Amino acid sequence: MMPDSLTANHKKSEEDHRREICTTGRCMYEREFIVAAEGNVSVRLNNGNILTTPACMNKGMLKPEDLIVTDQNGLQLSGIRKASSELAMHLLIYRLRPEVNAICHAHPPTATGFATAGRALDEALLPEVIAGMGQVPLVPYGTPGTPELSAVLEPFVPHYDGLLLANHGAVTCGADLLTAFFRMETIEHSAKIVLVAHLVGEPVVLSQSQVVKLVAARVRATAQRSVLPVTLDDRQTSEHHSLAQSESDPLLRPAERRPG
Ligand SMILES: [Zn+2]
Repeated sequence: MMPDSLTANHKKSEEDHRREICTTGRCMYEREFIVAAEGNVSVRLNNGNILTTPACMNKGMLKPEDLIVTDQNGLQLSGIRKASSELAMHLLIYRLRPEVNAICHAHPPTATGFATAGRALDEALLPEVIAGMGQVPLVPYGTPGTPELSAVLEPFVPHYDGLLLANHGAVTCGADLLTAFFRMETIEHSAKIVLVAHLVGEPVVLSQSQVVKLVAARVRATAQRSVLPVTLDDRQTSEHHSLAQSESDPLLRPAERRPG
């Protein structure tokens, strides 16, 4: 189904956010980004509290009353079910990214296949990904649902809107739920395309000048800094570039983070 009841605006009532989280869960389930009780979705409410999905339920079959409200530290304020085991990951992202109001976590099979093979989606291949997210790096493995995952995730959170989690899945964020969901869709869609490109030949990596044009358009549109993906020039010269950050920052030297 299309997410026709999701809108880009985050200024909504809690009732609207509850309905949109259920819609997003259905979309993620129907598109096979999650199965069984996998995945979780949350939004930051206007009062700073977090509205999130419960543990041990299929996120494609949720009703608005199944959702849980916690404070920004994870203390449960309402809801009869237990909060998601990945709530700490969501709270970390909200704490480090004040402009983020929504988060999606799923296990989309193609993107998760890349993450399980130790492969990031960090090469300059698709304009949609470069312009929308810069790149999608691979976060090292951390045990799901434990502080270990938050610890490995933390250095990446300030710099990226979409992340692959090694041997686990993907997490995306945005100013509103539609944006976070679209980023999850884009990650899985681009993973499928890159996989096919590898099957039919060798993917052609864009040059640095081609990428700079795309990223400059993104910076103008979003007023956010961007991290360049690995370009053809990086491959040829081993030089790394970032539009907005010092090259001394290891997080912003994408080619060196590539797992191989
Ligand atoms: Zn997970």
